[in-house]
Amino acid sequence: MEIKLTDIEFVANEEIKNLSSIKNTGTIYGVYYPKGEQELLFIYNFLSINNIKFIVVGKGTNILFSSQINNFFVISLKKMPKKVKKYKNHLIVASSLSIAEAFQYCYKNNLSCFEKLSTVPGSIGGAIMLNAGCFGADIFDNLVSVKILQDGKIKNIKKEKITYEYRKTNLRGLILSSTFLVTKKNRFDLIKTASNCINERIAKQPKGYSLGSIFKNPTGFSAGELIDKCGLKGTQKNDAKISEKHANFIINEGNASYDDIKYLIDLAHEKVKEKFGIDLELEIKIYP
Ligand SMILES: Cc1cc2nc3c(=O)[nH]c(=O)nc-3n(C[C@H](O)[C@H](O)[C@H](O)COP(=O)(O)OP(=O)(O)OC[C@H]3O[C@@H](n4cnc5c(N)ncnc54)[C@H](O)[C@@H]3O)c2cc1C
Repeated sequence: MEIKLTDIEFVANEEIKNLSSIKNTGTIYGVYYPKGEQELLFIYNFLSINNIKFIVVGKGTNILFSSQINNFFVISLKKMPKKVKKYKNHLIVASSLSIAEAFQYCYKNNLSCFEKLSTVPGSIGGAIMLNAGCFGADIFDNLVSVKILQDGKIKNIKKEKITYEYRKTNLRGLILSSTFLVTKKNRFDLIKTASNCINERIAKQPKGYSLGSIFKNPTGFSAGELIDKCGLKGTQKNDAKISEKHANFIINEGNASYDDIKYLIDLAHEKVKEKFGIDLELEIKIYP
């Protein structure tokens, strides 16, 4: 069946809090919510061909949106089907699936793959795009290939052809799904590993609306420690606050705006530069 633009769910002036885990105030000009691959490809190609400024959002756990910018669109993967399929020792996972959901599937089927990453709150697509990782593991460890839309063509790209490093890849385009290598493992061992990671996170990281780490750790340093040594823990700008628990986290305590959050980001960046001569690099993405 041929897809028309009007078939795709569209929300004008969508609230940012529905798209980004830091839930700052403000709205996005227009958001498309495709509900299947055909709709997704249609809207992605439509916006690309017409040179309309847009981005794809998985779970929005690494994106800070500035408020209402005219003619800036988002394609949200929130309503895409959460498909996962096992084939021999491979798992084929839709981009929209959260890492936690992929882990749940593996847990039920006694498969090792995502247990260390299960506490990263993002989607599989977002995690691959940024090479997410924690507790000594990263998403590329078990990745085999990605199915991606690039320059109007769907391609399968093997991991060996992708350049990736700490929280960075050279991927561009739209990741549709990806294939991971899985190995058999007892589910009790899987849950033990995942629980240890959860406990470590609870001990070290704050609760609340955030984007996780704001800055990447510079080689040999912890960004959080550098910010802490500048005496910035607890610094507040309206409802945005540099966490008392982990200085690389900014928490929205209610109605923080983009400007409030950006003020604290700039402050931390400036003070670390002043005190240590280190130019912290953002881990989060700021759009538009
Ligand atoms: C409390 C908390 C803890 C966190 N801990 C960690 C951690 O331990 N380690 C870590 O690495 N990260 C961590 N993060 C950051 C974040 O969860 C990861 O970077 C995650 O992988 C982002 O996935 P996402 O779906 O939310 O991506 P989004 O924020 O939606 O998008 C991130 C980028 O990827 C692009 N993108 C998303 N999906 C696709 C797709 N299908 N195709 C093409 N491009 C796409 C977006 O356009 C954007 O540029 C944490 C965040 C929070 C809030």
